[in-house]
Amino acid sequence: MTAATLTIDLDAIAANWRALDAKTNVETAAVVKANGYGCGVDRVARRLAREGARRFFVAVAEEGAELRQALGPGPEINVFSGHMPGDTDMIGDLGLVPMINSLDQMLRHLEALPDAPFGIQLDTGMNRLGMEPAEWAALREIATGQNMTLIMSHLACADDPVHPMNPHQLAMFREMTDGMAVPRSLAATGGILMGPEYHFEVTRPGVGLYGGQPFDAAQPVAHVSVPVIQIRDVDAGETVGYGNTWTAREPARIATIAAGYADGIIRAMGPQAHVWVGGTACKMVGRVSMDLIGVDVTCVEPEPQAVELLGHHNTVDVLADAAGTIGYEILTALGGRYHRRYYET
Ligand SMILES: *Cc1c(COP(=O)(O)O)cnc(C)c1O
Repeated sequence: MTAATLTIDLDAIAANWRALDAKTNVETAAVVKANGYGCGVDRVARRLAREGARRFFVAVAEEGAELRQALGPGPEINVFSGHMPGDTDMIGDLGLVPMINSLDQMLRHLEALPDAPFGIQLDTGMNRLGMEPAEWAALREIATGQNMTLIMSHLACADDPVHPMNPHQLAMFREMTDGMAVPRSLAATGGILMGPEYHFEVTRPGVGLYGGQPFDAAQPVAHVSVPVIQIRDVDAGETVGYGNTWTAREPARIATIAAGYADGIIRAMGPQAHVWVGGTACKMVGRVSMDLIGVDVTCVEPEPQAVELLGHHNTVDVLADAAGTIGYEILTALGGRYHRRYYET
């Protein structure tokens, strides 16, 4: 078998959810958009439901429909994009709860499904999704008489706890919602770590569940092991890979491993990134190809059969740094070619 193996540690996801839950006295939901941050929404959501998660968030109604299949009736499924044209049947038949973002969405929802529950998404400065203060002021009365289950907003700078945008958005959220008898949610992973005034009644962690920053204490979830296809010795002065970008300064032993940028191993990370063999870091050498990467294994005895590309040494954030990106992008880019396994005791 040559395909790299991606192992998703469901025990680690469960432990991360419990650890984030223990940081607050309020309900902890789970964000499972984008196929559970690339980790596989069915298995991830079922495990989190078993741990006690009662509320899930997805980006679009189609994801909500797939999630309902996995979870069955019961857990609340909230949709960030709200009630879009064409979503009515999914929302109504599958009991999804749209986070209403605008007057248009509110009218669409109340007209098509007058008794169906909905949430409200408010914009407190990120300028991405949600109603702004004037729009909300006009709608607040109408919404209050209806089946409104949650009011939420999203922080733009929660990965930086001392950023002045955080208290600014908090004050704005309070101003727009204080006194309403509806559960509120402001914090994703970063907001949970910023303390109780950000918690309200429901938190919405995503990346921390999957082992990513800013949750320092997260257990790694995604483990990638890549088979070595071939090993060769090169002399000083020989080059490796497309464009001859790496030249051996002294004799070296190069392993060619079976993964590349088609597997989400972003091409730009090449010169900065390492893989691990046991406790030894081995530098990637030459350009990352579509399906192959060169690795300097000169110091490894005996010759490795496989290398660790993601795991305890190389977290999603370590790899992300090598590519100048964030752990979220590494996770969601992992792609369809892996042999996927789920680990659960
Ligand atoms: C993705 C997302 C989350 C989860 O954020 P993390 O930083 O991954 O914890 C929460 N709320 C909204 C609106 C989101 O888009």
